[in-house]
Amino acid sequence: MPPRSHSPSSISLGMSEAQLVSSPQFSPPKFSPFFHPFGEIRTLNSVRELHAQIIKMPKKRNLVTMDGSMMRNYLQFGDFESATKVFFVGFARNYLLWNSFIEEFASFGGDSHEILAVFKELHDKGVKFDSKALTVVLKICLALMELWLGMEVHACLVKRGFHVDVHLSCALINLYEKYLGIDGANQVFDETPLQEDFLWNTIVMANLRSEKWEDALELFRRMQSASAKATDGTIVKLLQACGKLRALNEGKQIHGYVIRFGRVSNTSICNSIVSMYSRNNRLELARVAFDSTEDHNSASWNSIISSYAVNDCLNGAWDLLQEMESSGGSYENVLTNFRSLQSAGFKPDSCSITSALQAVIGLGCFNLGKEIHGYIMRSKLEYDVYVCTSLVDKYIKNDCLDKAEVVFHHTKNKNICAWNSLISGYTYKGLFDNAEKLLNQMKEEGIKPDLVTWNSLVSGYSMSGRSEEALAVINRIKSLGLTPNVVSWTAMISGCCQNENYMDALQFFSQMQEENVKPNSTTICTLLRACAGSSLLKIGEEIHCFSMRHGFLDDIYIATALIDMYGKGGKLKVAHEVFRNIKEKTLPCWNCMMMGYAIYGHGEEVFTLFDEMRKTGVRPDAITFTALLSGCKNSGLVMDGWKYFDSMKTDYNINPTIEHYSCMVDLLGKAGFLDEALDFIHAVPQKADASIWGAVLAACRLHKDIKIAEIAARNLLRLEPYNSANYALMMNIYSTFDRWGDVERLKESMTALGVKIPNVWSWIQVKQTIHVFSTEGKSHPEEGEIYFELYQLISEIKKLGYVLDINCVHQNIDDSEKEKVLLSHTEKLAMTYGLMKTKGGSPIRVVKNTRICHDCHTTAKYISLARNREIFLRDGGRFHHFMNGECSCKDRW
Ligand SMILES: [Zn+2]
Ligand SMILES: [Zn+2]
Repeated sequence: MPPRSHSPSSISLGMSEAQLVSSPQFSPPKFSPFFHPFGEIRTLNSVRELHAQIIKMPKKRNLVTMDGSMMRNYLQFGDFESATKVFFVGFARNYLLWNSFIEEFASFGGDSHEILAVFKELHDKGVKFDSKALTVVLKICLALMELWLGMEVHACLVKRGFHVDVHLSCALINLYEKYLGIDGANQVFDETPLQEDFLWNTIVMANLRSEKWEDALELFRRMQSASAKATDGTIVKLLQACGKLRALNEGKQIHGYVIRFGRVSNTSICNSIVSMYSRNNRLELARVAFDSTEDHNSASWNSIISSYAVNDCLNGAWDLLQEMESSGGSYENVLTNFRSLQSAGFKPDSCSITSALQAVIGLGCFNLGKEIHGYIMRSKLEYDVYVCTSLVDKYIKNDCLDKAEVVFHHTKNKNICAWNSLISGYTYKGLFDNAEKLLNQMKEEGIKPDLVTWNSLVSGYSMSGRSEEALAVINRIKSLGLTPNVVSWTAMISGCCQNENYMDALQFFSQMQEENVKPNSTTICTLLRACAGSSLLKIGEEIHCFSMRHGFLDDIYIATALIDMYGKGGKLKVAHEVFRNIKEKTLPCWNCMMMGYAIYGHGEEVFTLFDEMRKTGVRPDAITFTALLSGCKNSGLVMDGWKYFDSMKTDYNINPTIEHYSCMVDLLGKAGFLDEALDFIHAVPQKADASIWGAVLAACRLHKDIKIAEIAARNLLRLEPYNSANYALMMNIYSTFDRWGDVERLKESMTALGVKIPNVWSWIQVKQTIHVFSTEGKSHPEEGEIYFELYQLISEIKKLGYVLDINCVHQNIDDSEKEKVLLSHTEKLAMTYGLMKTKGGSPIRVVKNTRICHDCHTTAKYISLARNREIFLRDGGRFHHFMNGECSCKDRW
């Protein structure tokens, strides 16, 4: 079965980075994050000479990069003054670069006073700074307590009638608050004409820091009438103030605000509401607020439990502790709360001991365990079967089978739960012999295995790809007079999906129904996820029909899985229909729908959905921003990309992950801002991974930039030396520059490293059959007819202007040979077969395991035009939707 899941960058060719870039003797230089475009620099004088040369040079496009490396050169030689000058009089910068400069400066041992000295010198000479530079200067003034310089900057701004932007204004407020007290800060605020959200929040926080509680609450009221939005941080602090002040009415008002603006999904806000009510001695209101919170994290459990404990409701606190434990609360918290309750006079029983013990094992802190063990001994609880069962269970969950065995064999009067725990531990690990042995032992001791016992065997066999043995267990269940239930069958199905055995999964699905076992939502979701992951849209549609007939569509998980499947399959209209029909849309529904639009380059639709979602009060998470940024990336919307990237942290306090950075690099690179993309990578706090460098390399192919391509390839081949796709991409770039020597060297290095070129395949589903076209193995039985049709197609589209792109073949052979190679590309064959076998009007859906080549991409565009067909092609990197001679990727891939 061909549909193996693959990540975009996981397919390719291998050798060391040194071999790629230069001769085999070349030893890789030590890389600082900033590369040196001018080779190695050994002395400060050579830095200065180089700098002089650059200044004399006519303007070149990668000035930002040059500034960056000059700045770094100066820093490395300890010339902090020159480094600062480069930065101050350098070129367009943003806050990101400023912050990274300050960090670099400090990491080389620079003293921030020097930055201020340089600033003063330039300022006296009459150099004008932009608001970004001034903001940074003010921030340094604040940190170094240079109040007078800060005031001078302010006076100068006023004199010049300088437009004070929000950041500058905030920096001023913070400075004044610290040195002249809150009144000075309030004055700056009142004098700022543009009172944006950010500024309101700053001033409220400043007043709270200065313990001006009433003033802060008053400002919050004014802020609301100005329709400014309070950040989560501000709301939390205000609520804390209401707790401290015992200001119940104000607290209730803020609670109202939180409800009105849909901020209830924020756990830290909810926790503050709980504490606020508790501090106002309104335990019942605290409990209501707690119960209405969707996700309880450890802080929320802490706040409610301590509310009960503080208000002398120990039993209530204990009940909550139990609830917390069973809902998966953190063990540390269970223990902390356990101890504090004990010291408050609570006497634990066998049940509470179990919770505490589970916490100890969960934490793996066996010293703490001794403490509790001592208690067990004193309380004569040692042989309590429940304590032991939970111990066995927890050891297994913590991957300590041997410890679980010890406890198990020392337990007297074991109940069936204990037996089942250990058996499932064995099957999960694939230790089927041990499991069977235990099963026999269990029977000898007179305990009859139940369905739970058998199902753990079914699941174990099925997950390790041994579906025949799993089926044998199903038959064993039947022979014992028991009936396999939905759990047994779902285990069968999910094991098959896990092992990409989709046909068997479907087979078991129908067998289960024949045996009158009703599937549940987990069964359906498992199948739908498998269809989405492998682009099996036809089967997915059948399961959709099934869910409709059996009334599963109200199930939110199934609806979400449907959106995901149709979205990935390019049936956006159907996805949207499912989406629209959901009454209470959850965050995953929104995310899946946005992602569906994003992958096919419908950026605007993603943004519209995002706005709609915010209006309904659903709060975005990191996945939402991945969808937004992917939307920008696939539609080439650079400005929107920056907007969402910035908003993520400032408005929602979500830290960007490597995925988000990778989207941004891809976006900048594809749009042709390769230097900016490099700058961005240097400013990323995490180490750039293969997805980031892969995006740069692909962008270099698009914009034919061989210099940056070599930098990207060097990094990429260091991170993924065995990924042949990277080599293929670099060879492609070399071949467009006719650098066949380099292509050959790459190939040799691949051979030397033993990098395998994977089998390339494309497939298409026609009716119930999947037709695979592969570079290896058997050829398709109708190959002759397919080629005949393909040649006709090609001559047809040549009349429309199509020209074969022989640059896509990186073999140094003559052009007619290259043409032959191009025509044998698997995606061309699959598309042609689709045209032959499907009716006009129905879209063609092809899946390919590696990146589509330039020529096939062009061919697909022309075919969509000539034959008036939609073509969906999912390749190793992304999704393409061809229609009327164009592709949804707008030729950026
Ligand atoms: Zn091709
Ligand atoms: Zn495309």
